[in-house]
Amino acid sequence: MPELPEVEITRRGIEPFVLGKTITAIVVRNPNLRQRVPRDFARRATGRRVKRVTRRGKYLLFECDGGTLIMHLGMSGSLRLIDPKVPPGKHDHLDLVFEGQALRLRDPRRFGLAIWTKKDPLKHPLLAALGVEPLGEQFTPEFLHRTTRRSETGIKQLLMNAKVVVGIGNIYANESLFRAGIHPRALASRLTRARCERLVRAVRETLLAALAAGGSSLRDFVHSDGASGYFQQSYYVYDRAGLPCRACGGAIRTARLGQRSSFYCTNCQS
Ligand SMILES: [Zn+2]
Repeated sequence: MPELPEVEITRRGIEPFVLGKTITAIVVRNPNLRQRVPRDFARRATGRRVKRVTRRGKYLLFECDGGTLIMHLGMSGSLRLIDPKVPPGKHDHLDLVFEGQALRLRDPRRFGLAIWTKKDPLKHPLLAALGVEPLGEQFTPEFLHRTTRRSETGIKQLLMNAKVVVGIGNIYANESLFRAGIHPRALASRLTRARCERLVRAVRETLLAALAAGGSSLRDFVHSDGASGYFQQSYYVYDRAGLPCRACGGAIRTARLGQRSSFYCTNCQS
């Protein structure tokens, strides 16, 4: 599932190719995404020139003259730059065509989303309730400490709650908690101020390391044959059940926690 680094790398990958370009056509092959692509979406967004491509949480915002095209990659979506004449695959549900180049959304599980708004996109109902950006100034130890005081969940679930902090899914929650030495089941409300500080630092380091890993894959966005724009990284704990911990050599454990698999080292995380 794309998390914040994957969406940010997507943004950086596509921005140079669409900046200043006009959306000359939109092809919707299957409108049945997480929200049905509105009937008038293509008509309203076609002919607009892209001024900026920004990101809020996992939403990509194509800021255009007269409005914003909001896109979400859902659980399995990816965007690629492609010659629009290349025949679409089964899961290629939508093309934004820019003067001879297309941005093609491939989304096998169809949890993605594409809408047009004339209003301030940050006040759109989908975005208005989002939590703070984990790489932004508001995600501080004070913020995390204050927020965890009134929480009744484990810290991992809190980290993955987009109303608190955006863009951290199962992979980066596991990785951040390992880096911070905090067990995923630890109660959020019991975290000391010092541990909040460690966790904020760990989240930032984890995301920045992922962005650095993704930076080397930016060129993949212009290849029409790649299955997705996602990059490979090596993880400390994620998906490494039974393998030796990279810090202490002990076996990485796994457990189901709130429907998701948690991976952790009992020596390194308490
Ligand atoms: Zn360990």
